[in-house]
Amino acid sequence: MTSKSSLTCGELLDRAVSRIAGDTARLDAELLLAQVTGLSRSGFRAFPEREVSAPLATEFEDLVEKRVQGMPVAYLLGHQEFWSLPFKVSNSTLIPRPDTECLVEQALDLPLPDNARVVDLGTGTGAIALALASERPGWVISACDLMDDAVALAQANASQLELQVDVFQSRWFAGLPAGRFDLIVSNPPYIASGDHHLGEGDVRFEPATALVSGADGLDDIRLIVSEAPDWLNAEGWLLLEHGFDQADAVRGLLTTRGFAMVESRKDYGGNDRMTLGQWPRKGALHAQ
Ligand code: GLN
Repeated sequence: MTSKSSLTCGELLDRAVSRIAGDTARLDAELLLAQVTGLSRSGFRAFPEREVSAPLATEFEDLVEKRVQGMPVAYLLGHQEFWSLPFKVSNSTLIPRPDTECLVEQALDLPLPDNARVVDLGTGTGAIALALASERPGWVISACDLMDDAVALAQANASQLELQVDVFQSRWFAGLPAGRFDLIVSNPPYIASGDHHLGEGDVRFEPATALVSGADGLDDIRLIVSEAPDWLNAEGWLLLEHGFDQADAVRGLLTTRGFAMVESRKDYGGNDRMTLGQWPRKGALHAQ
């Protein structure tokens, strides 16, 4: 029965795991095999002797080869979960990170009106904006990205998830329709151009425009902090993700710009990963 060329799920997985380096080798291999065969991970765990046809086995091994070369699993699968929602991903955007869920939690904790106007700057897949939309149907949420591919992807994710977010092509605030927000949230590029992390792991395959921001990684954050007050309602909030070692610098930028209640918050790894501040009440310095 078993032709020589036909392999079982168990054999394919063991071969793949021995080739993929790193802690996630088995998980990666199982996700790729599930994608190719349409079987569930628990399915081939329970029945490792199940055979895989030669064309599917070849398809699987091609994906494994790309994974061995470092291609992120999310790009190979074409999707990634964020906030328990399925997002389409492509190599024109950053892959949504679990730590960015802390940014979403923080946004949901803010004292905001039920009909808050919110914008997500540099939305990529739309992850932050759509996670917020899934939790706060009353919020009026916009998102923008510089890259047309990202705008299309975020729009596709919004319609797939049946969530209402208006997505614009815009370099930060430059292309947004006039108006003010109660919350501006962003996970902008924040890696310094010479940072050695850029040569390691998943980021090697992600677009530099989504990762790198000048010599100290703060060019885009400086611009956002400087312009945000022109786009915030009185008592509106600015909430930014940043590098694990940038919290002091970002708090300094917000405080200097005139924000109140400036504080940093930790990610799942215990790093100060995000900073927020509130634009002063009406009548305070600079407020209009
Ligand atoms: N957190 C990402 C990383 O270090 C970078 C994200 C970003 O630049 N916004 O891999």
